[in-house]
Amino acid sequence: MRGARQVTRWTLAVIAVGAVVGSVLGASPLAAQQGTNLQSKCRPGPNTLGVSRTVEIDATGGPRFGRMQYRDHDFLQDGEVVLTFDDGPHPKFTPEILDALDEHCTKATFFVLGQRALSFPAQLREVGRRGHTIGTHTWSHANLGRSSAAQVESQIELGISAVQLALDGPTAPFFRFPYLSDPASAQAYLKSRDIVNISIDVDSHDFRTKSPSRMISNVMRGLQEKKKGIILWHDIQPSTGTGIRQMLAELKARGYRVVHLQPKQSQSTVAAYDERLERDRGSRPRVAAVRPSPTPAVREPTPQRVAAPPPSQQQRPREYRDWRDTVFGRW
Ligand SMILES: [Zn+2]
Repeated sequence: MRGARQVTRWTLAVIAVGAVVGSVLGASPLAAQQGTNLQSKCRPGPNTLGVSRTVEIDATGGPRFGRMQYRDHDFLQDGEVVLTFDDGPHPKFTPEILDALDEHCTKATFFVLGQRALSFPAQLREVGRRGHTIGTHTWSHANLGRSSAAQVESQIELGISAVQLALDGPTAPFFRFPYLSDPASAQAYLKSRDIVNISIDVDSHDFRTKSPSRMISNVMRGLQEKKKGIILWHDIQPSTGTGIRQMLAELKARGYRVVHLQPKQSQSTVAAYDERLERDRGSRPRVAAVRPSPTPAVREPTPQRVAAPPPSQQQRPREYRDWRDTVFGRW
């Protein structure tokens, strides 16, 4: 495959400072391709978070962010937060989170699983249409620290190709490791592909609790300690799905300011993985299809037995009709 590019130079451009809201952000080329904020519930006011500034990240060389794991760069000032949601889309919670973000006229970054993107393309497209940034999070939430080099590549690339196929547009070259498990070889692969590695600063631990108030106190405790940071939630978790409105109100009440990450470049795909998705579309399963519940918990998949959960007929465009019985088992 490609050799790692020895590019260490990176730039981080602050492209806007001040009270920037969705309609302005929608003017960026990538946001325009992903859709505009046509039905926003945004009504800017004294109680809305808004977006205090947008930071454009140059993906060249695959820089790393998030001081829980990396100390390379720190672009946030005290009081600034970046909102991030992993593991979606989810048919119920993702739309609820999008509405809550809209009500606060604010923007987030979603790290999406390829498998779930193909299962819930309508929800994914809504994320893009409302002007949020979409990165990827592997195909099926594999722990890359326990994966072979071939599996690492397949998980990363199939995730990217699948999310772009479901989105019908480009994603940001932003990636987050499942379980924050980041072996050196996988990090080198990201660098070779000019993909930004975005870790976290503050963990909501929303997967450990069904209680929104506990999730909120986890975040506020983390922010009190670090004073700023990239915050991790999961848009498949009930505590976040039901608690996000109160969470955003709490951030506003404590005076935190939201920074929206946007990419300088859009994410490229590898043709072989695009073709693999096309080839497997509608193919008969080679092993018995696993049919998770509509809201499966994210866990370490068994690589040979991973199937996309079946979306409803209403959610699935014609071209995804055959996905429900497709099984991918070649990584
Ligand atoms: Zn995850």
